[in-house]
Amino acid sequence: MKLQEYQSKQIFAEHGIAIPKGRVAGTAREAKTAAEELGGRVVIKSQVLVGGRGKAGGIRLVKSADEAEEVATDILGMKIKGLPVRKVLVDEAADISTEIYLGVTNDRAHRRPVIIASAEGGVDIEEVARSDPEKIFRVHVDPLLGLREYQARYLATGIELPRDQWRDFISIASGLYEAYVESDASLAEINPLVITKKGSLLALDGKMVVDDNALFRHPDLAEMRDIDAEEPAEREARKYGLSYVKLDGNIGCMVNGAGLAMATMDVIHLYGGSPANFLDIGGGAGPDKVQAALEIILSDPSVDTVLLNIFGGITRCDDVARGILAAIDEIDRKVPMVTRLVGTNEVEGRKLLSDADMLTASSLAEAAQKAVEVAKEIKVR
Ligand code: GDP
Ligand code: MN
Repeated sequence: MKLQEYQSKQIFAEHGIAIPKGRVAGTAREAKTAAEELGGRVVIKSQVLVGGRGKAGGIRLVKSADEAEEVATDILGMKIKGLPVRKVLVDEAADISTEIYLGVTNDRAHRRPVIIASAEGGVDIEEVARSDPEKIFRVHVDPLLGLREYQARYLATGIELPRDQWRDFISIASGLYEAYVESDASLAEINPLVITKKGSLLALDGKMVVDDNALFRHPDLAEMRDIDAEEPAEREARKYGLSYVKLDGNIGCMVNGAGLAMATMDVIHLYGGSPANFLDIGGGAGPDKVQAALEIILSDPSVDTVLLNIFGGITRCDDVARGILAAIDEIDRKVPMVTRLVGTNEVEGRKLLSDADMLTASSLAEAAQKAVEVAKEIKVR
């Protein structure tokens, strides 16, 4: 579960990290009042659960309460990457001298959390990792020992932080690590962490992702879920107990089993295609789940074709086939689909589908190749 910027920064503040004074507003009027209280020079920040708000025009500096009202009106009418802006954060404006990146996430390969720092803050850290990997510094934290001071000092040295800011930086890094661990987060990020013109460190932006599987022991965090602000497709998927992650490609995938879904995506890549999503419908998925899954996949306009890869164990292939056919009947959008069905009742399942003129395959390789071909033909047209 992603938290909004204002929620993440609130958690950071509870761990001793300095954040700008600010108020959340749902209307332009509220934004104006907030700006008055904060002295007029404020930043109006759209609260949406996607990055790159600045570039999209969703973050604007204003000089007066009246201007705050105007700008808030604009921003509250915006959609950023498809998500409507329903709230803005009105923050006291900061005078920035330097922007730093500081984040904590889990490093699976090292089986422990990693703290990442870079002097190239404010911009997309993945981009820095590609273009200037030597500008990124990492320390792995032993979960039993916690973050040690020498590790924070290593990061401070790496990013060439002026000595005057070391004490604050060490305490911010510790606070961020603590916030990460205590919230069962998979990401806690400050981008940018700024050095102000007066020389203090301030967390200007905040992002946290909390592990959904740990929410049961954090009722306070679970309550922060902003259902209206989530991707509609991900919200639907949760309702039906499906794991869905949207990706950038054009081949929609519906698979039973997370491991098989990962393998399916790899095989699509192997044949030169690009998956539009990860979707695990789980075991024993009945027709209603299959239909919900297809609707979610097809709600993504970049999907040109769908690859269904079903291994029938508990799930019976003829049931799945009926689910697919029922779902197709219900859904308006028609795209070509390739189905690979193997396992219990596979012959019956495949017959049902080929009788309905659907493309079928008996191996994953064949199915992936067909899907990639179909997707290419559509692109050419
Ligand atoms: P993001 O684009 O979604 O990551 O939003 P951020 O909160 O990181 O803001 C983007 C950029 O806007 C920052 O990197 C800053 O350069 C700028 N910005 C944000 N808040 C302030 C502020 O209070 N004062 C100034 N001068 N710039 C700001
Ligand atoms: Mn940012």
